[in-house]
Amino acid sequence: MNEIRNISLNDLTDYCKNLKQPSYRATQIFEWLYQGQVSSFNKMTNMSKEFRCQLQADFQIGSLKTQLKSVSKDGTIKYVFVLEDKEMIETVLIPTKTRTTVCVSTQAGCKFGCRFCASGIGGWRRNLNSAEILMQVLHVKGEAEKLTKPLSHVVFMGIGEPLDNYDNLIKAIHVINDERGMNIGARRITVSTCGVIPKINKLSDLGLQIELAISLHGYDNESRNVLMPVNKKYPFDDLISACRKYIKKTNRQITFEYILIKDVTCTSQAAQELKKAFKSLICKMNLIPYNPVSEFDYETPSKNEIINFQNQLKQFNIFSTVRTPRGRDVGGACGQLRHRII
Ligand code: SAH
Repeated sequence: MNEIRNISLNDLTDYCKNLKQPSYRATQIFEWLYQGQVSSFNKMTNMSKEFRCQLQADFQIGSLKTQLKSVSKDGTIKYVFVLEDKEMIETVLIPTKTRTTVCVSTQAGCKFGCRFCASGIGGWRRNLNSAEILMQVLHVKGEAEKLTKPLSHVVFMGIGEPLDNYDNLIKAIHVINDERGMNIGARRITVSTCGVIPKINKLSDLGLQIELAISLHGYDNESRNVLMPVNKKYPFDDLISACRKYIKKTNRQITFEYILIKDVTCTSQAAQELKKAFKSLICKMNLIPYNPVSEFDYETPSKNEIINFQNQLKQFNIFSTVRTPRGRDVGGACGQLRHRII
């Protein structure tokens, strides 16, 4: 059956027109779905009964089955959802004093196999459709309203590579951003990528005001080759050039995510190399202390090592923030989310 959350506002407008309904019906449906969060067409009470029946005959309003909900001692909540074909995905609600963020998965599993990340361990199963992406956001939005503050930010940093599922990602972003949809400002939506260059270029043509984060993690081509197999296809220097182009074209900054692994990426040699790579590049750097994954034997640097590294970058005019690990105790922190299947 046709899942209605896979239908864009434009297509819904065409559908309404074909049924000789005014085009504002599409907006009304959208508002019920994404603001009213109704689970049945019957509840769309500002439309005729006949039309609701027609909708019911043509579409379904799906929902995600929650398999597990784990609450971290820091307040982060990890949800494990089961999809219709029994694939499982994970989604995280991250409350802070000033914002409530949902971390969304875009694929069941991941094909990129970064050497420090749990999401790629079981390989890749399939792309999520835009309804499955939106349902994660809607579920957490509903929970956030009950438990904490309204949802304010969306980060595509869950399982999978968002830019490897480009069309469904963009479709979902439009709904999240649209004022008739979830109405979350573009600047509060972040897409993180392992560096799929052609899609970074494509994204820069769209003119969306969303935030782009690049998982850099290596400090030069060689170190990135070891940590991230994607670097063999899209090498370090090409990635940095693509980022320069993106910044120039969109007039927006990029955040570089950089994992801190003891004695591997958190060294003074690494800082020196980053200095060379970031010459005259205005950017933000987000340092992510390695979150333990049982299959790998990397270690997290000490607080002192992290501060020393950050200070060294500062001397080179690279300004960075350190990402506070959230939800580590429930396997909900960056890189700890994993694919499963029932
Ligand atoms: N595939 C996308 C989206 C994942 S975002 C990407 O690569 O950007 C998740 C972020 O957490 C990425 O920056 C990822 O590299 C990082 N990460 C993965 N494993 C990690 C770990 N064990 N500790 C800390 N960060 C990790």
